[in-house]
Amino acid sequence: MFWTKFFIPTVKETPHDAVVPSHVLMIRSGMLRQVVAGAYAYLPLGYRVLQKITNIIREEMNRAGAIELNMPAMHPIEIWEESGRAEIMGDTLIRLHDQPWRRGTVLGPTHEEIITDIVRSYINSYKQLPMNLYQIQTKFRDEQRPKSGVLRTREFLMKDAYSFDVDKDGLDVSYDKMYAAYCRIFERSGLPYTPVEADSGPIGGDASHEFMVVTDAGEDYLVRAGDGSYAANVERAETEPIADLGCDSMDEVKEVHTPGMSTIEQVSTFLKCQPSDMIKTVIFQHSEGLLVALVRGDHEVNEAKLRRFTGVTGLAAATPEQIEELTGASVGFAGPVGMKARVVVDQAVTVMHNAVTGANKTEYHITGVNAGRDYEIKETADIRYAVEGDRAPNGSPLTFEKCIEVGHVFKLGTKYSDSMNATFLDKNGSATKFIMGCYGIGANRILAAAIESFHDDNGICWPINIAPFAVHICALDQRDENVMATAAKLHDALESAGIDVLCDDRDARPGFKFKDADLIGCPIRLTVGKRGLADNIVEIKVRTEEEVQKVSPDEACAAVKAIIERLS
Ligand code: ATP
Ligand code: MG
Repeated sequence: MFWTKFFIPTVKETPHDAVVPSHVLMIRSGMLRQVVAGAYAYLPLGYRVLQKITNIIREEMNRAGAIELNMPAMHPIEIWEESGRAEIMGDTLIRLHDQPWRRGTVLGPTHEEIITDIVRSYINSYKQLPMNLYQIQTKFRDEQRPKSGVLRTREFLMKDAYSFDVDKDGLDVSYDKMYAAYCRIFERSGLPYTPVEADSGPIGGDASHEFMVVTDAGEDYLVRAGDGSYAANVERAETEPIADLGCDSMDEVKEVHTPGMSTIEQVSTFLKCQPSDMIKTVIFQHSEGLLVALVRGDHEVNEAKLRRFTGVTGLAAATPEQIEELTGASVGFAGPVGMKARVVVDQAVTVMHNAVTGANKTEYHITGVNAGRDYEIKETADIRYAVEGDRAPNGSPLTFEKCIEVGHVFKLGTKYSDSMNATFLDKNGSATKFIMGCYGIGANRILAAAIESFHDDNGICWPINIAPFAVHICALDQRDENVMATAAKLHDALESAGIDVLCDDRDARPGFKFKDADLIGCPIRLTVGKRGLADNIVEIKVRTEEEVQKVSPDEACAAVKAIIERLS
């Protein structure tokens, strides 16, 4: 490809709303243009990268035995009502209702419902299983704050696969195949990824893994054991129980007046104690009533853990009215003493002595609170987020890093075959629910995560397998016939060897061309200039290396191929 015949609108200015490096660099390198908040046009250079990524994904999915199909973005709302997710999805589900025919139409944020409907319609015997169906298709989600460029958008390209098995063992096999395929996809894409245990909902166990890329642009937290033995999403991360240091004597319970002080910070400052000396009482509602969670003052309740432990559905924060009715006090003064609801106590609270907590009386707290004497612990579990200073279950200290999820594999079990009554006939001829798994990868996120991971002050540094072009020829001295002929010859030779090559044949200064070459970040730069050719040399430079290799034009193709081999 020649630059003058292609379309790469590089720009100097950084758009003011672009903050994260991938967003800035995609715009500056002419890969991307925002069309509306949360939806972008991929210009030719960006689209080449996206295609390289989807090609890798497709190859690996096919290799793993998955079968490609394509499902529409427009779904009837009825199918989302059938699974019960129309409500759960809330505003994320984009509804079209400005025309009578569209009234019951939504834009698919994912395709479990549609695929389950297809499979239940055509697959009726265990003999047709297992089956794994996938697509690479556009998803729509009304993300609250689409931001960080293409890391989080309202319209994005996902590879989503769905496995159908006769039993749990079959699901384990399908899951492991997808896990392995994902590792290959990320390895081939050159991404530094970490698989982590993820929240797996009610199924629990090892039923879900996320593939994370560590980056400051991420919104998730990756929690790792210092010894490398453990990695999990902070949503899921478990901790070593906190030791009981005991105490010499139990203080008396004392009521203290804390006017207008309803936060942990206000009360601990006022009483000159630490937040970790306080018990935080968090009140939730769920479909069958109220639920109280106790955590240490410096900890936060992890709702996913609480949901999993209690098995309740529809867990959400209680309303101020509910809290006032339950505690007899205004919000901010709840405590475990005399609490009349189901109370789940976090492990860290079970080893607290002489604690400070709300008095269930407006504007009052109590001190000297001890479990056993002042309130009873009936249910205890790990229901909090891990924090700095915690240790992994094996005792190794935990570290925290910001990260972004690029892929997710999930054992669904019978979640959808139950709600949508999807069955096949088993060996004995009885109707049996499909055992499902679902597996998603964000193609745009792989692209952006690669830029987040690989860039410097001058631009992008693409991993070779997803680079828009492997080789970028800078033909200096555009008016020199020999230069242009040599550059064109090298371009043609590389291209016919199956190497993606871009030749910058613009009439521009060398410095300008080098700047653009660094910006768009192809892994290998091949410079052809008048001065070099006078000595029968061209220059080869790897984007991420300082050294410049000088070879004759005749040797250039072989030298480039050797570098590609090394970088691959
Ligand atoms: P997140 O927690 O980041 O919102 P998610 O858990 O909702 O993601 P999944 O439903 O698991 O995402 O979707 C599978 C994959 O699709 C994700 O791993 C991610 O790579 C990609 N993806 C999800 N939401 C977006 C988005 N808004 N923009 C771009 N890619 C996305
Ligand atoms: Mg996910």
